[in-house]
Amino acid sequence: MYSVSAQVNDVGLVKVPLLPAPTFALDVPAILTTLTSDPTIKLIYLCSPGNPTGALLAKSDIARILAHPTWNGVVIVDEAYIDFSPSPSDSLAEWVLEHPNLVVTQTLSKAFGLAGIRLGAAFTSPPIARLLNALKAPYNISVPTSALASAAVSPAGLEVMRKNVAALAAQRERLLEELPKIKGIGRLRGGTASNFLLYEILNTEGKPDNVTALAVYERLAELKGVVVRFRGKEHGCEGCLRITVGTEEEVTRFLAALEEAIGEVHKGFAA
Ligand SMILES: *Cc1c(COP(=O)(O)O)cnc(C)c1O
Repeated sequence: MYSVSAQVNDVGLVKVPLLPAPTFALDVPAILTTLTSDPTIKLIYLCSPGNPTGALLAKSDIARILAHPTWNGVVIVDEAYIDFSPSPSDSLAEWVLEHPNLVVTQTLSKAFGLAGIRLGAAFTSPPIARLLNALKAPYNISVPTSALASAAVSPAGLEVMRKNVAALAAQRERLLEELPKIKGIGRLRGGTASNFLLYEILNTEGKPDNVTALAVYERLAELKGVVVRFRGKEHGCEGCLRITVGTEEEVTRFLAALEEAIGEVHKGFAA
């Protein structure tokens, strides 16, 4: 979406790929060199935990970018999935008190399950907050959105969210334990800090493979009523499916469907 928004707004884009799996860490030297060599860059987007990597970015890496000696732009850290991460202290929201050029964004669309109300939040310094207020339309968020969001972040609402996140974490553990037992499942790529896991799908020779992964994805969706995301075209994600963690019943159904689908695809390719 960052590149879609950049294109819609006729803004240039410079991509600096993450380091290879399984860390998917920031390539700090490459980012610092890019910023030094192109002072026209105004914004940096970082995503932590990443999508589809599920990996938290190291705070020390982000600190090194914020400490760039000459570059003077705005660093945006997208924390859409932060509520799924193991510790509340994984968030960088409080860093905005010390770094006036940092913006941390969060959303009610993920752990709160409220994508339909279209509300997120940005934490930043007063000067950038004033800038954002000056840019936005004069009308505020809608009354229904405001009422639902207030309930969601009330103590009772937070309790519901945390209960759901705990149930999800248990099923994430279960997937981590059960998926490697399925024939044709390769390595976990990336981290476990989000509500999805990125796994390789192997061909009949035991190699991560996009053709096999896409066939498994299609079989799951078209014949077994289970939708995952094919992410094999993303940088460093050859043969990968992004699997969203579900309820206990959903995970049970998914594990059986996946084992069947991989078996059927392998059989089809062997024939
Ligand atoms: C879902 C998501 C968001 C936030 O989406 P909204 O529904 O617009 O709040 C932001 N970044 C990433 C990477 C996401 O996956």
